[in-house]
Order: sequence, then structure tokens, then C-alpha cells
Amino acid sequence: MSISSSTSIEPIGVITCKAAVAWGPGEPLVMEEVEVSPPQPMEIRIKVVCTSLCRSDVTAWQSQAIFPRIFGHEASGIVESVGEGVTEFEVGDRVLTLFTGECMSCKHCTSTKSNMCQVLGLERKGLMHSDQKTRFSIKGKPIYHYCAVSSFSEYTVVHSGCAVKVSSRAPLEKICLFSCGVAAGLGAAWKVANISEGSTVAIYGLGTVGLSVAQGAKLRGASRIIGVDINTGKSEIAKAFGVTDFINPDDCSESVHQVVKRITDGGADYSFECVGDTETITTALQSCCDGWGLTVTLGVPKVTPLISTHYGLFLSGKTLTGSLFGGWKPKSDIPSLIDMYLRKEIKIDELITHNMPFEEINQAFNLMTEGKCLRCVIHMPK
Ligand SMILES: [Zn+2]
Ligand SMILES: [Zn+2]
Repeated sequence: MSISSSTSIEPIGVITCKAAVAWGPGEPLVMEEVEVSPPQPMEIRIKVVCTSLCRSDVTAWQSQAIFPRIFGHEASGIVESVGEGVTEFEVGDRVLTLFTGECMSCKHCTSTKSNMCQVLGLERKGLMHSDQKTRFSIKGKPIYHYCAVSSFSEYTVVHSGCAVKVSSRAPLEKICLFSCGVAAGLGAAWKVANISEGSTVAIYGLGTVGLSVAQGAKLRGASRIIGVDINTGKSEIAKAFGVTDFINPDDCSESVHQVVKRITDGGADYSFECVGDTETITTALQSCCDGWGLTVTLGVPKVTPLISTHYGLFLSGKTLTGSLFGGWKPKSDIPSLIDMYLRKEIKIDELITHNMPFEEINQAFNLMTEGKCLRCVIHMPK
């Protein structure tokens, strides 16, 4: 956009750009020319720089019914234009997208106990929060959003409460991981469980989220961090992120919660479910100790959303809790995590197993489906 004179500003127009559109469940994405509307009041339009693929993109792509759709919710970019009323962002600002926003004024945003914004919380219908419409279309037909972010497009529109400004020193090709997985894992360890020094921890599922829980536990001084995963190939990287004991349940002659209980003298102080499987939630609950054992669930269940477990587990003093985005208030808390990364106090580079150009995005979906990657970072055209 250019300023044509000192008094008149050209109206912000529609942008036509490339986006990876999912036309049906599990169908390969197709590169399409999409029209991206101008940002509406309190929205910003972002030129996406890098976006990583998260397991929940794949889960939604395989199991949900909202199509055609543009997935992607871990992204970094540069503000291209701002809608009416936006004072927080300027064209050219470097930002991270947020799949769960922070309006700063609702009951939850003003409470220290919650990050579940009532205005800009997790969006499930594929629309924008403000007017229940889409900002993407092809020949006038709407293309739906994912979590009101939709970063698998060269340009996207998000609510200004669903983005956060980042330091000019932060490498955009790396920090996109803080948009979801890494922040979720660290927050579960620090904010939700508040792991104490010397404690024992069991983590089910060693993807990006589980490894970030491990890193969080290690930095809190946990004495034993037990990582459980059916892929033994993950044991090396797990060690690098703080896992002290790796268990592949397929190699065990007894049930995995019994193994955890045996090596932790009756159960871990904390357990984390990072798989997205409701049966594993029960196993995680069974592997923590009586009295104060705490289980935190982070995974998004793929098939069965209902949890079924014996009430006796709760009578014995165990607690089960969930968390979205690690309990962080996204706009308020994420910049400090990025600062920690810049001071080399937390590591994320090792989680990036693949880098690829936007055109090869289907390869990232294949790698994630086959369990052959942690994070694939997709680089948008310059
Ligand atoms: Zn709010
Ligand atoms: Zn995610």
C-alpha cells in the first residue's frame, strides 16, 4: 500500500496469493490462487514468513468436516496492513500468530487464573471471531479458516488479539514453534503443573509437545524424567531434552504404568499426556502417585473424546487437569519465552527436523502422518 498524498491514504484492497487449500478430509492440499480480504476492524493482514506443521492441523484435516479450508496455526510473519481501530500494530511489525487470542478485557483475560479468552478463544467453525465470515475466497466462494489463523497461505488475516509483536532479533524461521507446540509443553510443565525441584515426571508421547514438557521439567530440576513413546528412534533426542529414562511400551512385559510406579517408588509426582488419546490419559493417571499425583492432558484426542476411568484413582488423591496453550496468556507471556530463547535458556532449533519450501507442504503432512518428523518448518516465497 502506498500513500498517494499527505492527506489521502489508498484503501486497502483484496490480495490474490497462493494458499494450500484442503478440499476434503485427508486429501492432499492443492495450491490455489485465493483472494484475501482486507483486514476488517481490529484485524491485521499478515504476510506469512514461516509456518510449521502441528499435529493438530493433521488431526483436524483427517477428522473434521469443515472444507474447503486453509490449515496452519504456528506462524511468524510481517504485518502488511491494519484494519480500522488497530493501534497496537503497524505495517512492517514482526509478529507471531496465536490460535487462542487475548482480548485483554473479558472475565478470563482480567483473571490471573485463566487464559481462556471469552472473545477470542479457540475458534472451531472455520470463521473469523468478529463477524462469523471468512477472509478467504476463490471466485466468490468462501474458503474456511482453521483456528482463525490459517497460515498455509502467503497472506492471512487475523484478529489483532490473535497476534503478538516479537523482537526484531528473533529469527522468524525458528520462533514460529512458539505459536503452539513448544509453548504448550513448557507451559504445562511450568504454569499448569508447576513442577518442583527433585520431583519425578512421566511423559506420554515424545513429539514436540512432550519434548518441551521434558525441557521444562529439566529446567525445574526434576530428578527423574520418564519418557514413554512407541518409537524407540526418539530416545536420543529425548535424552537431549532431559528425559532420563526412555520406555517403549511395546518392549515391556508389564503394563507401562506399572513400570513407572516401580521405578518411582509408587508413582510419579507428575504425568503428562501428550499423545491425544483418551486411553493414555487413564494410563497417565494410573502412573502418578497417591496423595498429590497430578496428570496434565495436552493432546487433542483423535477418535474418542470421552474419558473413562475408575473413580478410585481420584479418591486416592490424584488430580487430572487439562491445559490449552500451556496455560499461557498468549499476548502477555509469549514475548518472555522468546527472550529466554534468545538468551539460550531454552532450545527449540533441535525440534526442527525439516525445512521445506511452501510448494512441498504435502511432504510435511506425509512426514507427520508417518511419525517421521518433529517440526517441519515451511518457508513461504520471499
Ligand atoms: Zn478475553
Ligand atoms: Zn498446534
